[in-house]
Amino acid sequence: MGLLSQGSPLSWEETQRHADHVRLHGILQFLHIYHAVKDRHKDVLKWGDEVEYMLVSFDHENKKAQLVLSGEELLETLQEKGERTNPNHPTLWRPEYGSYMIEGTPGQPYGGTMSEFNTVEDNMRKRRKEATSLLGENQALCTITSFPRLGCPGFTLPEFKPNPVEGGASKSLFFPDEAINKHPRFSTLTRNIRHRRGEKVVINVPIFQDKNTPCPFIETFPEDDEAAKASKPDHIYMDAMGFGMGNCCLQVTFQACSISEARYLYDQLATICPIVMALSAASPFYRGYVSDIDCRWGVISASVDDRTREERGLEPLKNNHYRISKSRYDSIDSYLSECGEKYNDIDLTKDKEIYEQLLQEGIDHLLAQHVAHLFIRDPLTLFEEKIHLDDANESDHFENIQSTNWQTMRFKPPPPNSDIGWRVEFRPMEVQLTDFENSAYVVFVVLLTRVILSYKLDFLIPLSKVDENMKVAQKRDAVLQGLFYFRKDICKGGNAMVDGRGKTTGSTEPAAEEYALMTIDTIINGKEGVFPGLIPILNSYLENMEVDVDTRCSILNYLKLIKKRASGELMTVARWMREFIANHPDYKQDSVITDEMNYSLLLKCNQIANELCECPELLGPAFRKVKYSGSKTDSSN
Ligand code: GLU
Ligand code: MG
Repeated sequence: MGLLSQGSPLSWEETQRHADHVRLHGILQFLHIYHAVKDRHKDVLKWGDEVEYMLVSFDHENKKAQLVLSGEELLETLQEKGERTNPNHPTLWRPEYGSYMIEGTPGQPYGGTMSEFNTVEDNMRKRRKEATSLLGENQALCTITSFPRLGCPGFTLPEFKPNPVEGGASKSLFFPDEAINKHPRFSTLTRNIRHRRGEKVVINVPIFQDKNTPCPFIETFPEDDEAAKASKPDHIYMDAMGFGMGNCCLQVTFQACSISEARYLYDQLATICPIVMALSAASPFYRGYVSDIDCRWGVISASVDDRTREERGLEPLKNNHYRISKSRYDSIDSYLSECGEKYNDIDLTKDKEIYEQLLQEGIDHLLAQHVAHLFIRDPLTLFEEKIHLDDANESDHFENIQSTNWQTMRFKPPPPNSDIGWRVEFRPMEVQLTDFENSAYVVFVVLLTRVILSYKLDFLIPLSKVDENMKVAQKRDAVLQGLFYFRKDICKGGNAMVDGRGKTTGSTEPAAEEYALMTIDTIINGKEGVFPGLIPILNSYLENMEVDVDTRCSILNYLKLIKKRASGELMTVARWMREFIANHPDYKQDSVITDEMNYSLLLKCNQIANELCECPELLGPAFRKVKYSGSKTDSSN
């Protein structure tokens, strides 16, 4: 989830006192990096995925599944046995927000050759096996986006009661602080978001109205004033950062060959975010209830919304500088490439002084406004030992602000003095149950970047339309019901044509006819006379590539999954989970998920993930990874 500093975190008041210092030096650090590496252009395409996991314990006797709060110890062992023993270890492990979470990535980034696509799934399997081998009896490593009974009584092992008193980090009625990772960064973030906001965070997710769901559905919280005021009828109310950042996702980071290629990819992929998010939908349940949304995005967004009432526009500006229209965790607010400029139609709040300073330093308007926008935020944590830094050789203050702007895409400058290039991170996807599915989504997105770069495709539409798409994408069954704005002519628009120096050419005004409302099926699979479809484009790209038979077979299998999820022939994880609960013998059609239902759902998820049972509705019949065996002469593997 970002930068981890060791040391003693400062209180919110002290952190606030240093806010201008962090911003000032953060910008100086960015400038050092920019000037040092702005002209680098020979980096090779590399990429890597990140999978977030939850640790689940099964009590078979009492039919209860709980989240195990042992992420920190597990991580320590994994790192000790892995990267610290062998620098070439195939996996890397990192902490995540929940004490019941860990994050795994491949040990080395993948390179640009096609055969690498055939190693992703094996590496994910290795990760699952490696971490699973260290778990206790009846424990499992699960790739589920949201734990259905997160925040319900006794959802952790060991069990802890929430402690909604002054001095706690979350002050939550439901989520105990013990479920937050013990590294001080995480509880400090939690506490300071709440302090800065001036009240607890508020998350209201619409309840799924089933036959026997009370109508209106109203929960009362007489013991908590804030909750009583903040909770809405017909919504599932949540009040802690853990309800959002305690969810898991699947991310991909790309290294581009130059800064201009990174900016181009950032923009193009931003338009794809809502589409792939809807396709990956996997989180329909919150706090023990069936909700009316399929994706976690808005929940996390609200769970880290540190804006004050003034910034949210509820009170006139007095103590704060700006009205801010979005949470720190939200969709991007501006395109970065020149071809994107005319589609930048969202009001962009920026720090004017920083913007001017960046322009004076020779940074162009688009990049300057992007950074000046990120820097309207305050630092949320600061470590006593990390206040005074060497701006030419360190970047912690820049990273402090950068890594707490959790947007759909992240534009990542190289770390100081490293051989890492300019990178972009693709962040909207929900994590899937199996390594096969996760590989499929990752390979789909990486292949898409290849096609975007090779064919100079142009997906850009006004950014306000991408924002509308993000809203639609989270709705229940958006993958089949939703209509999304998408560019009609992605080939000969000419906007994205990049000349030799990374400059773009094209006309200046966007035209409404450039885009239309389409279903995900049309966008992914194409529709005669309307849109060619991303999968057909990828397929034709593949036909022209030299790919070994085995890799081709894997890639085609992955694309088949994406294709069938888009057409509805296969279910999303969210849809499948809904059906599982709806058909559970204990379900009373009242939108309630009991401990026992939670247990059977997670048990089933774990069986599917470990290939102990089939799930054709989700994966199709022939989607087990079958190695091509036609002409294999080499028996060594
Ligand atoms: N778990 C967060 C999510 O589901 C992302 C945290 C991170 O940035 O690593 O989006
Ligand atoms: Mg993470």
